Order: sequence, then structure tokens, then C-alpha cells
Amino acid sequence: MKKESSHVLEVGGEGPLLVIHGGAGRRLHEMSPEQRAETDAALARAVDAGYALLSEGASALEAVIAAVHVMEDEPCFNAGRGAALTLDGRAEMDSCVMLGDGSTGAACGLTTARHPVDVARAVMERTPHVLFSSPSTKRLEEWGIEQVDPSYFVTERREAQLAEFKELEAARQESAQAQARAQAAEDARHGTVGAVARDAAGRIAAATSTGGITGQQPGRVGDSPICGAGTYADQRTVAVSCTGTGEKFIQEVAAHQVSARVAFCGQWLADAAGAMLDAVDGRGGSGGVIAVPATGAGAIGFTDGAQMNYAWAWRNERVTHE
Ligand code: ASP
Repeated sequence: MKKESSHVLEVGGEGPLLVIHGGAGRRLHEMSPEQRAETDAALARAVDAGYALLSEGASALEAVIAAVHVMEDEPCFNAGRGAALTLDGRAEMDSCVMLGDGSTGAACGLTTARHPVDVARAVMERTPHVLFSSPSTKRLEEWGIEQVDPSYFVTERREAQLAEFKELEAARQESAQAQARAQAAEDARHGTVGAVARDAAGRIAAATSTGGITGQQPGRVGDSPICGAGTYADQRTVAVSCTGTGEKFIQEVAAHQVSARVAFCGQWLADAAGAMLDAVDGRGGSGGVIAVPATGAGAIGFTDGAQMNYAWAWRNERVTHE
């Protein structure tokens, strides 16, 4: 029998609206009070940065970029500074932006861009292409991208996570206890940041930025930079950013699926988001989604057992949830 597992809430309403996520999969009960406070404060800074721009009449694109910039600078999120590390201890980051008019840009395998989302924007605005793999440092320079030494992305927290992942991988088969710990480490491997917005002119945009998953094989690319999988926007329907088990989100063409359910099945956005998450769950994946439609309330959802950092701002309301 099909398992109905996702949790979806509706947020905000007409007019400028910003929803952000700081990844799903974290085990909140294992976060220290200090880590929770750090995450909460960072979500607040990010949503405030983006919503301030929307309030001044800036575009949805500017708002999602501003919100993602803040999260990319925070070591507590799996994007930019706090990116998860590959098996060989490096950060390989992916990003994507998409506007309601169909404009889109994405990049994967980034190792020096301080703000990977800027590379996605440069691909969209400065090239006739949609997706770049490991663009050279020279090309990033030409695009005006701020670059840092790759060691900037190797934080103690992520190194410890990688070491634990490797140790538990080795022990995985050995005992039931190790398997339980391995599941906990599995949950902590994920992250990703994303933002979706609608501006005063009604334009919508989505942006996603990630370090992938801790201990991923070098060269592995998840759903985040893939238009339609981890990120999608269509002015006729909705802007979407996903987080979670990337392989499963790709297999479900998750972000586009939310849009397609609204467009072709006439589903309410919250139902469409929930049905997509159930489908991901049905494949053994987990994670979350945020979505802002061209008109009406936005949606925030996550699969059962997953926990998601998110925040949203609309009119005088601002909510953060770490
Ligand atoms: N979806 C991301 C990826 O698979 C990771 C995550 O959101 O946790 O690369």
C-alpha cells in the first residue's frame, strides 16, 4: 500500500513572498543548542537580506541570490563555505538559478567560487548555454566571479563528518549498532540551500546551491544543478527548490513534477509538493521542497522522518525554523 508520508505547510499569500531552505536531513535532536541558535540566526539573516530587496521593489532573482549568498557564507549550511566534502576531502559544489520566463543557468563541480550561485547566474546571463561542468578559473575570472583557495571550503566540521562517514562505511557491515550510527551519519551527509521568490511585479525565481553529500565520489553530481530535478521555475505555475537524496529527486524529475502536477493535473500546490515527496519517499529517498507560485500561497514540505531548516517572509510576517 502506498505510504502517505510527507508534511506540507502553506505560507504567505499574494504579493512579494520569499521562502528559503537550509537543507533537509539534519537530525535536529542531535544539534547542540548552540548549533540550533547559529542555524536559526543564519536563516534569519538570509531571509531578511532577500526580503529587504523584495520590499524595495527588486526582482525575484535579486532576492533569491541575496538570500543564497548569506547561506553560502555560513559554515552551518552545505553550500559554499560549509560545503560537504567528497571522499577525497574536497568541496565540489553545484548551483542553479531559474526564472519564471524560462531563463536558466547552472554549474557543477565548482571548487573555487565563493558563491556558487553567482556562477549559475553568470551562465544564465553571459552564455548561450544552460549548464557548465567545472568551468576553469580563467573563465570564472572572465565572468567576474569571486574565487578563493579550495581550502576555504574545508571546515573542521565537514572534515569530522567525512572521517566519521569513512569509519562507519568500513564498520557498516560489522554490527547492527554500527548500522544505526551509519544511518545517523547518512542523515547528516545532506544539506543544500535554496530560495524561491515572487516579486512585486509577480515574477518568480528559484535558486539552489549545494556541496552535494558528504563522502560522495569525486565527480558525482546531484539534483541541485539540474533544471527540472532540484530547481525549476515556470511563470505559468511555480518556482521550486529541492533538497535531499539527489539521485531520487533526479529520478522523479522532482521540481518539474511539482509544476507539472499543478499545470496538467490541476492540483493545489501543497498537494502537488506532497505527492512529489511521496514519490521520492517511495523510491527510498528523503528530503524537502520549497515552492512559490505565480499567485497565492507558497509551500514548504519534507518527507516523513526528514527535518528541514527553512524560513519565509511575507508582509509583516517572518518565520524561521531550524
Ligand atoms: N540534493 C543534494 C544532492 O544530492 C544534497 C542535499 O540536498 O542534501 O547533491
